[in-house]
Amino acid sequence: MRTPRIEINLSKIAYNVKKIVQLYSSKGISVIGVTKGVCGEPMIANTFLKNGIDILGDSRIANLQRMRNAGIQCPFLLLRLPSISEIDYVVKYADMSLNSEIGVINKISENAIKNNTKHKIILMIELGDLREGILPSDLEYTVKEVLKLKGVKIAGIGTNLGCFGGVVPDDKNMNYLSSLARDIENKFEISMEFISGGNSANYNWVKSTKDVGEINNVRLGELLLVGRNSLDDNKIHGLYSDAFTLIAEVIESKVKCSIPYGKIGFDAFGNSPKFEDRGQIKRIILGIGRQDIMHSALIPRLDIDILGASSDHLILDAKDKNFNVGDEVAFDVKYGAMLSAMSSPYIFKKYINE
Ligand SMILES: *Cc1c(COP(=O)(O)O)cnc(C)c1O
Repeated sequence: MRTPRIEINLSKIAYNVKKIVQLYSSKGISVIGVTKGVCGEPMIANTFLKNGIDILGDSRIANLQRMRNAGIQCPFLLLRLPSISEIDYVVKYADMSLNSEIGVINKISENAIKNNTKHKIILMIELGDLREGILPSDLEYTVKEVLKLKGVKIAGIGTNLGCFGGVVPDDKNMNYLSSLARDIENKFEISMEFISGGNSANYNWVKSTKDVGEINNVRLGELLLVGRNSLDDNKIHGLYSDAFTLIAEVIESKVKCSIPYGKIGFDAFGNSPKFEDRGQIKRIILGIGRQDIMHSALIPRLDIDILGASSDHLILDAKDKNFNVGDEVAFDVKYGAMLSAMSSPYIFKKYINE
């Protein structure tokens, strides 16, 4: 079979979705399925929808377009703040979007009015992770301004932690979001559909908290797809973390030194590489490289070590294993490796449905 390839086990994704939807709904929290890590792949989107998810979210218009063109019918949420230059497409392809800029929301409203529709807005609140979000002190003013616009409706508020700053969702920041939601609903006499607490990084909080407060929604990709939570880099017990398998092929297998010899300059990427002296080792080269995959997010299924990669080659220490050219080597993927593999036109995609 062709290599390199990524094998995608849809049954394992389906299992993860059912399991998580069940857990979160027992706490009163609905799940938006996030497809950006798989480029909006329609087969995976449909697996989300068939197993308890009603709304899909993606950060890119191109992926929303791909899913709509594949005939997927559900409400779509645009996760990345809309660019002014793409407002036409935002209103056309997304039913709602996450927003933090009144100037952008204004443009969305104008466009929605022109197209005789209403676009839903979830206002993002900055709670410390320092990616997108309105400062809490500006929230009231922003809501007041958005309520004047006829082409948009405030569908809720939300936040995103554990992404840029690595801030951990806990009772303190989640209760704060709940209190902001209550304040807004009371002050403006509106009722909001979504109090959206975050992403996969909220898993430990959702599991352990005694009181979710007003939080009634999250947006999940990583947890459903690779059964992991980037905050603590652990596999989640009870979920499949091997729904995706990356497979590459041995193109050289030789015993060589573990330390380069000759006068040493920079490597292909401008780094000056450091190597551990392991003596003579069984070195294998796989036909996959940095142009295809984020190799730091690959985990070999066998007890062998990744030494490094150039653009098109991945180099491993096979340790006590024996490989011949033509052999296949399998890896678990963490989120970054899944994302790069799914985005690469050089990696063949194979779907498995047990
Ligand atoms: C990517 C993203 C998510 C989903 O994150 P996961 O870690 O994959 O669950 C949720 N919300 C926003 C705003 C995002 O950008």
